[in-house]
Amino acid sequence: MSLNTATVSRQWSLEECIAGCERHGIGGIAPWRDKLADCGTAKAARLIKDAGLTVSGLCRGGMYPAADAAGRAAAIDDNRQAVDDAAEIGAACLILVVGGLPQGSKDIADARAQVRDGIAATLEHSRKAGMPLAIEPLHPMYAADRACVNTLKQANDLCEALGAGVGVAVDIYHLWWDPALEGEIARAGAAGRILAFHVCDWLVPTTDLLLDRGMMGDGVIDIPRIRGWVEAAGFDGLCEVEIFSANNWWTRDADEVLRTCVERHRTVV
Ligand code: ZN
Repeated sequence: MSLNTATVSRQWSLEECIAGCERHGIGGIAPWRDKLADCGTAKAARLIKDAGLTVSGLCRGGMYPAADAAGRAAAIDDNRQAVDDAAEIGAACLILVVGGLPQGSKDIADARAQVRDGIAATLEHSRKAGMPLAIEPLHPMYAADRACVNTLKQANDLCEALGAGVGVAVDIYHLWWDPALEGEIARAGAAGRILAFHVCDWLVPTTDLLLDRGMMGDGVIDIPRIRGWVEAAGFDGLCEVEIFSANNWWTRDADEVLRTCVERHRTVV
């Protein structure tokens, strides 16, 4: 299991997350860049190494579409920096939340073209750095503002168009509903491009589009089934727990949250 720091993002700094992983016997971590920046990348790299943690990914790069050329160039610069940060902390991949519609746009096909071009423009740098880029498809409810890549098929198609150095992150929260999921996981696995596996659960009802994700076992996703597909497809990396939960898990004692994650990972995932 790996702890995505978003899971305790209100409670803990990156330093505290690293210490928490050690305390709870969690073998991996996936920092977000805001926490990494607060800690300092060099110091974070040292602490993570000293704690013996695997870094299952750095969250996040992406956010490519912009209303003008200057905005697009700034996004590419930011992604190159994210690649360097990911390499410095020894991350398995840089997670890409690719971005949605630019301000004022209603052209989602254009946004998707900008995403393809933006990743292509990052690839030369990321290949040199040896840092795989993991396209994370997000649930379609985020198509406007976070990611216009919304299915694993779209992400697989993009990977095929872009070539080496790019793969996918399979996040069950975003993908569980997709009738094509099993086949697309197999397709990604056959190409060796599953770079990350993120888990939480889908609550019914979901009361907030962004910040109401559930703890594994509290929702309706058949997690073992999807995990089985991912493992059958050859993925042998860590299972990353990523829970955005403003009104529940972010209000709790972080040690309680980690204890629950470990227990549910054992019994539910
Ligand atoms: Zn995710």
